Amino acid sequence: MRKTNKLSFLLILIILFTINITPTDKIEQFAKTYNLKKDKLLKAKKFIRNNKDKFLWKLVNKDNELNNNYIPKKLKKIPLKYTKNRNEIYVKELIYKNLVKMIKNAKKKGIKLRVLSGYRSYEYQKKLYNNMLNKYGEKFVKKFIAKAGHSEHQLGTVLDFNSLNINKKSKIAFKWLSDNAWEYGFSLSYSKNNILTDFEYEPWHYRYVGPEAAKIIKDYFKGDQKLFLKFANNYITYDN
Ligand SMILES: [Zn+2]
Repeated sequence: MRKTNKLSFLLILIILFTINITPTDKIEQFAKTYNLKKDKLLKAKKFIRNNKDKFLWKLVNKDNELNNNYIPKKLKKIPLKYTKNRNEIYVKELIYKNLVKMIKNAKKKGIKLRVLSGYRSYEYQKKLYNNMLNKYGEKFVKKFIAKAGHSEHQLGTVLDFNSLNINKKSKIAFKWLSDNAWEYGFSLSYSKNNILTDFEYEPWHYRYVGPEAAKIIKDYFKGDQKLFLKFANNYITYDN
């Protein structure tokens, strides 16, 4: 009888330990590894758990891919006037309002933002990758082009703005974006300082994460979007 009691007590202890302590430890570990604040991560976790759109923060990179049949729900065509003379650019409807608001407010400050590229299907990525590989070689594609299924552009919430080159003119727009895009929910995917980035610095490539998440990335994750996504993906399950 005594032995059974002892055993039950031990079992309860183990259960309590698993429920209460392990998740906090995980957060503590993350905080330590990336030099972040644990209390802020706890707040971020609460925020992440309340999110309804799972793919908003899906981590897509060299190690994490989207299925070849993943197509975002409700795609919307961007009017020609907001693009760099491209007629067939689509984005998820969810981000459209904020995108237009951002372009209009930038214009008020004398900044001309134009969309170069948006949603890319799996098939398109495959073609693009092979074309670039043939044209520029392996070294170039490794730096700039994702393999099919590994591009954030397949999410429909990712945009390239103005130019794929850093020049005198585009620099001004990129600076404006880096200072202001977060207010509209857009976050730079491949910055100079990110720890987990797959690609070189791409000041034109922005991902919509929502204004609250963009602020959390700025305030809690040292502006490192990929750190936030990696953290968030511990608390979201994907069946796709
Ligand atoms: Zn891009």
